[in-house]
Amino acid sequence: MAAPGENMRINADRLWDTLMDMAKIGPGIAGGNNRQTLTDEDGEGRKLFQSWAEAAGMTMGVDTMGNMFFTRPGTDPDALPVYVGSHLDTQPTGGKYDGVLGVLAGLELVRSMNDLDIRTRHPIVVTNWTNEEGARFAPAMLASGVFAGIHTQDFAYDRKDPDGKRFGDELKRIGWLGDEVVGARKMHAYFEYHIEQGPILEAEEKQIGVVTHCQGLWWLEFTLTGREAHTGSTPMNLRVNAGLAMARIVEMVQGVAMENQPGAVGGIGQVFFSPNSRNVLPGKVVFTVDIRSPDKAKLDRMRAKIEAEAPKITEALGVGCSIEAIGHFEPVTFDPTLVTAVRNAADRLGYSHMNLISGAGHDACWASKVAPSTMVMCPCVGGLSHNEAEDISKEWAAAGCDVLLHAVVETAGIVE
Ligand SMILES: [Zn+2]
Repeated sequence: MAAPGENMRINADRLWDTLMDMAKIGPGIAGGNNRQTLTDEDGEGRKLFQSWAEAAGMTMGVDTMGNMFFTRPGTDPDALPVYVGSHLDTQPTGGKYDGVLGVLAGLELVRSMNDLDIRTRHPIVVTNWTNEEGARFAPAMLASGVFAGIHTQDFAYDRKDPDGKRFGDELKRIGWLGDEVVGARKMHAYFEYHIEQGPILEAEEKQIGVVTHCQGLWWLEFTLTGREAHTGSTPMNLRVNAGLAMARIVEMVQGVAMENQPGAVGGIGQVFFSPNSRNVLPGKVVFTVDIRSPDKAKLDRMRAKIEAEAPKITEALGVGCSIEAIGHFEPVTFDPTLVTAVRNAADRLGYSHMNLISGAGHDACWASKVAPSTMVMCPCVGGLSHNEAEDISKEWAAAGCDVLLHAVVETAGIVE
């Protein structure tokens, strides 16, 4: 299969201007965006994207989850499409690039192919997945999850926002309930371009992240039961201190993560003390342990170790302990052929690159269940994301989009 010419580049200014035009819809309060899924602003952003994609000669399909698919035909009517996508929805105080970059880079690569008169054997489909963020309707990556058969559509339609509005009703209300059966499309390959949302590329001064894996995770919810008692008048030897047990478990989890370096993280981000009064020893402490690794065996080993060690800690203090697994993602290994296509594209273009493991979940993680998939990442300033101050440079955005163009065109088979 012929590789695209070395000098093939996207139009950096046009990509940037398109990003800035989209950012005008649903502006935030501090320079970012509030374009949460299935709001009027989301509907408006979708319309703008539709107008651009149709002007670039693509035809639209929308499925019953509101996922948008724009097709640029290939030369072989029997060839499955190469998909490129991400999400246009944002956090309530989101940035201008998380997700949006991946969708609009897909648009830009088609615009560039039109300019350069490049034809491919496989069609190219640019995709906007509904509700990646999960901020308004949990869980995240909802519609790509239904597409991949992880969730049922009924489950998705019944998700409620904090005001009690149903996902299914809101999808209809904003006018983006499509008629295609969700998940019926078959993919030759799926590419997603995304900002890193972490500090590694910037610190290592690399332009391109070649994403090889997505971390898997376990969320373990602990409920520790002690005895409420006066912090002043209860002698130390008579305390049943659930707070002390919690603290020792925090240290233990840190130790388990450190024993499993490199390629593992673990910590506690949320703790509820009860009654949470400054002069009462807590009778109950509920907290969530979050452990992640790209290696399934390691991830499961960490969980087993934590579940074995925690009761030893609590029993020694007379504290009751129950543990419930409340969240789980399997680690994802991206398709080696597509990963190589991304790395080769970066080499061909002369961009510095390194392998990365995605620390966050993405639509590509679900797409990987039904198609060969991979991701490209660009740096973001200070690793900051899910924040209105999220920032990237025009040059970073363009470099990743160039890599995406090369890898997608190569995978779709350039027609000479
Ligand atoms: Zn995202």
